[in-house]
Amino acid sequence: MGAKYLRLFKIVFLSAVIFFAASVFADVNQPGAKEEKPARQEHKHPAFTERAKERERMVIAQIEARDIRDLNVLSAMRIVPRHAFVPENVRKLAYTDRPLPIGLGQTISQPYIVAFMTEALELNPTSKVLEIGTGSGYQAAVCAEIAAEVYTIEIVEGLAKYADEKLKELGYPNVFVRAGDGYFGWPEKGPFDAIIGTAAAERIPQPLVEQLKPGGRMILPYETEAGFQYLVLITKDEKGNLSKRNVMPVRFVPMTGEVKKKGD
Ligand code: SAH
Repeated sequence: MGAKYLRLFKIVFLSAVIFFAASVFADVNQPGAKEEKPARQEHKHPAFTERAKERERMVIAQIEARDIRDLNVLSAMRIVPRHAFVPENVRKLAYTDRPLPIGLGQTISQPYIVAFMTEALELNPTSKVLEIGTGSGYQAAVCAEIAAEVYTIEIVEGLAKYADEKLKELGYPNVFVRAGDGYFGWPEKGPFDAIIGTAAAERIPQPLVEQLKPGGRMILPYETEAGFQYLVLITKDEKGNLSKRNVMPVRFVPMTGEVKKKGD
């Protein structure tokens, strides 16, 4: 009788120890994962469950393999259905390692570049972001998975309208799309913690520099006179001093509008 209870007690005790150890081990393996994951409403649109395996493979082979480490960025890249942002004729290629045409002569960046630029912004759940060049709306959605609010400006009216409708349909109430010239930024909504430009400019628009918060980060493609393009990362310290550095050679569509006029 006594031995039977003792055996039962041992089994219960051992199970409790194993369960406790497993939960501690799971926590150790995901440092900060709980704290860093922003509280977001579950996505209800069917696109989020479609092609999830392809997105997973894309993240492993194209993003993690190239050293993107920010957990929020990796999670956003797994969530956002890139196929929902590209036109029907290229939808099959949505998770391949390349940029794709989105109509009206414009392109959606290669997934890795989207992840790289998002990581460079060091977003967190309180960030307010400005994007120049909405295009399909994909990059804005990736930022919106992490940040509090994303303001995005697109100079081609048809694209702005399409992206706005798409983002509303998929359920991104924290993205605000405006048709217009992004050169001037969005002063009524600034200053911003992070600014991302997705069209290449030959000079850095001064209004954008002004709308960047002290401590903020801006990344955008810059084109030299010789026609080379680099992603430039600009940081503004708490005193307002700027520092700039080229972080990667790239190929983006040109920024049009005011930036093409000479002089500042
Ligand atoms: N971020 C986009 C890719 C955009 S491609 C995505 O995720 O799909 C660059 C976009 O910048 C194009 O749509 C182009 O029309 C737009 N653009 C070019 N010059 C601009 C300007 N001055 N202001 C706003 N958008 C501009």
